[in-house]
Amino acid sequence: FEPLRWWYFYKLPGVGTLVEVEPNRKVTWEITMLPGFYARHTYSIEDLGNGRSRFGSWEQAMGPTFRLLKFFWVAHFVFVKNRSLQGARLLESIYKRTGKLDHTTLPPRRGLLLLRHLRELFGSGDILGVQHRQLAPGVWAVLGGGGNSLVIKSGDEVLVVDPKMWPYDRQLKNWIARQVGGRVTAVIDTHYHFDHTRGNRLYPEAAIIAHRSVPAAMQARDADYWDRHPAAIPGADNLVDESLTIRVGDQEITIHHAQQAHTTGDLWVHARIADRDFIATGDFATIDHYPFFDIGEHGANPQGWIAMLRELAATYPDATFIPGHGPVVTAADLLNHAHYVEFLDKSVAGSRADGLDEGGTARNVDLWAWKLSLAPIFHYGLWFLSNNTNVRSIFRLQTGRRS
Ligand SMILES: [Zn+2]
Repeated sequence: FEPLRWWYFYKLPGVGTLVEVEPNRKVTWEITMLPGFYARHTYSIEDLGNGRSRFGSWEQAMGPTFRLLKFFWVAHFVFVKNRSLQGARLLESIYKRTGKLDHTTLPPRRGLLLLRHLRELFGSGDILGVQHRQLAPGVWAVLGGGGNSLVIKSGDEVLVVDPKMWPYDRQLKNWIARQVGGRVTAVIDTHYHFDHTRGNRLYPEAAIIAHRSVPAAMQARDADYWDRHPAAIPGADNLVDESLTIRVGDQEITIHHAQQAHTTGDLWVHARIADRDFIATGDFATIDHYPFFDIGEHGANPQGWIAMLRELAATYPDATFIPGHGPVVTAADLLNHAHYVEFLDKSVAGSRADGLDEGGTARNVDLWAWKLSLAPIFHYGLWFLSNNTNVRSIFRLQTGRRS
């Protein structure tokens, strides 16, 4: 028997005997442990059609040792039931993604907690360092140092999508001057978050383009900063409602509103260059790291987030995607990220339906199988985006506790 919580150090040896198996339907086993403890468990599963199934867990225990520690055992059975249902959600998600459940698709047993945290921590380094990658003639991704940036040059004109935050915003500008040349004539903010937008102030000659809701969101969340840099707020002439096409040199750039995904005012940016599609998504694609779910008034909608990823992957299966954080990826990676957000959203909804509160849900939903790294980003008071913060944010979004 594994402990209820990792910080309880007990391990209990017991003898289990399978007493009845109905293949694909039901299994019953008996446990004898310690003198005076006897329990019988039945798990059953029933196909309800339409991809739904009913899982049943029936427990019976008796004996003087059981009666003595009844409060403990009842808590243990409830814990096991909740973890089993959560495990079923993980199996469902893996099956939907890969079409099979075997050793090639199932995650290995979770490792020691310390090792797991170390792995999550070491994986977080790439967000802090900056990488420059040329994707095609005149197209660069500048990854890390706040949000990822996309830089496109045509003729003498340069576009910057997401100009980062201090000190990386200054480094980006210097790198453009040294390696790209030309004049930055347009800056696009994929959304209002400061790690993507504070660098606006370094391009006073450029048109600063954003969704119509962005100036109000900037004022609501980062008034201190934007009051000091009012000229860096996107101006009334450069706000996008549904879509906008601009020219940078000879290059056509189209800008689309993503509805409410990572925030209410998400834009994604599309350029077709040398017969290839390049798409900057902003943060509704956050790859390899725990994403940030903004629970503010201008914040996230997980359903819109998932829908947007699937729509882009279906419409542009061969495109090169520059996500808001993480490496340059393909449509398959967007779909994988959509599966993650869907699994998280369903797991939280399921735990709530099982009667768990926010803390209980945070302990019940284990995101280990997704192999994400912590994101060391100073997002509105959060130090690290993690398993715990992702679950709690989704819980608050589902229960309408935006703040
Ligand atoms: Zn963001």
